[in-house]
Amino acid sequence: MTIDTLTLQQQDAKHHLHPFSDFQYQNKPHTTHMISRAEGVYIFDNDGRKILDGMSGLWCVNMGYGNQSVHKAVIEQMEKLVYYNTFFGTSHPPVVRLSEMIADVTPEGMNQIFFTGSGSEANDTMMRLVRHYWASKGTPSKSIIISRKNAYHGSTMAGASLGGMSAMHAQGGLPIPGIVHIDQPYYYEACVEAGEAIDRAEFGRQAAQALEIQIDELGEDNVAAFIAEPIQGAGGVIIPPETYWPEIDRICKERNILLVADEVICGFGRTGEWFGSDYYNIKPDMMPFAKGVTSGYLPLGGLVVSDEIVSVLRDAKVELAHGYTYSAHPTCAAAAIANIELMHECNIIDRVKNGVGPYLSNKWKSLEEHPLVGEARSLGMLAAIEIVKDKDNFIRHENSSEVAGICRDHCFANGLVMRAVGNKMIIAPPLVCTNSEIDEILEKVWQSLDMTAASIR
Ligand SMILES: *Cc1c(COP(=O)(O)O)cnc(C)c1O
Repeated sequence: MTIDTLTLQQQDAKHHLHPFSDFQYQNKPHTTHMISRAEGVYIFDNDGRKILDGMSGLWCVNMGYGNQSVHKAVIEQMEKLVYYNTFFGTSHPPVVRLSEMIADVTPEGMNQIFFTGSGSEANDTMMRLVRHYWASKGTPSKSIIISRKNAYHGSTMAGASLGGMSAMHAQGGLPIPGIVHIDQPYYYEACVEAGEAIDRAEFGRQAAQALEIQIDELGEDNVAAFIAEPIQGAGGVIIPPETYWPEIDRICKERNILLVADEVICGFGRTGEWFGSDYYNIKPDMMPFAKGVTSGYLPLGGLVVSDEIVSVLRDAKVELAHGYTYSAHPTCAAAAIANIELMHECNIIDRVKNGVGPYLSNKWKSLEEHPLVGEARSLGMLAAIEIVKDKDNFIRHENSSEVAGICRDHCFANGLVMRAVGNKMIIAPPLVCTNSEIDEILEKVWQSLDMTAASIR
């Protein structure tokens, strides 16, 4: 028997604390969206309403919902060996296979994988390993990690500290010591500040050179690493100018600091390459990953580490005092194996790069004809629009995040999940979207923008 929606909502409000939520929802349970079922690129609420999932859950259900091969692999693994750990000299077949499959698709020289349960944990592991590496090399003073404002690296103490979200830093005494944030390469925002279109290439170079200035200020001997998402996701799908990453890569190599590319969103196909680092042709030393590795079917994350770093740690001959009960959980590993097999079978990287990605890009650009849209940008299966009041003069609405919130609510009512981030609207649809599903997204975005324009008039 199915429980009616209001009863579910009321029971939810009684005992369930929602992440990233204002607990006021407990006083108005009917506002909670109760999602009961999903298939392909669609989710269905408890009353059977069909909604196109333009965010792939939380950027993770890359291969869509309902893949039987993944379900089957999970059940078979559960029956064989549901769980065992990988501490103290043990291992199991699924993690052996998965490690090889991941190493096969990572950039050259990056063939070592440490498993975690999530992206946040992967970043905690990264911080420990980076410092352990420099200490093992006899330079323990190299310990500061440079990150960026408005970056997202997770929600644990280290993850949220590495991230540059001011709202997250405002709670719980963050950031933890040893982390410094530089400005983000957010081109449109720079135009808003200037009140006119500025030179994109020059802005990209300058944003990168902020890293060089920061390293020199702190002293190269005190800096361990720079961490960044190839494309900022949660910050609002911020796609850096093409001049940005080559310059960052150069600076990290010249100043002898490690480069960490947080691939939790960009990894596993979202940019039309296996990793965002491939798209930008950069050579990171470590890559945290999660989300797309299992398409969200079960929780799994990890950290890809370069062979060079691992050889230093191996020669140090000290035990790594770090690990999680669920590092390389066999059942989660089985889900990842089946998911990656499916990615190969569907040729999904090529489809995003040469098929649905360019199709989305073309359609998305046309949103700039809407009076509310200052910029419509996209790359692979990531896209954003800047909501503005006066696009010719780069002027935002005074209450711009309210306007974006109105647009988000119209989207949901029109059957599309689209996220509002400050003054931006973003999507990250499943990689398996067909062209006609992209058409449906675009239709719903136009309709919702029109309704938003009417609402604020
Ligand atoms: C989601 C995300 C994380 C955190 O991953 P969780 O699995 O939620 O802990 C880290 N980095 C980036 C870039 C992310 O988008």
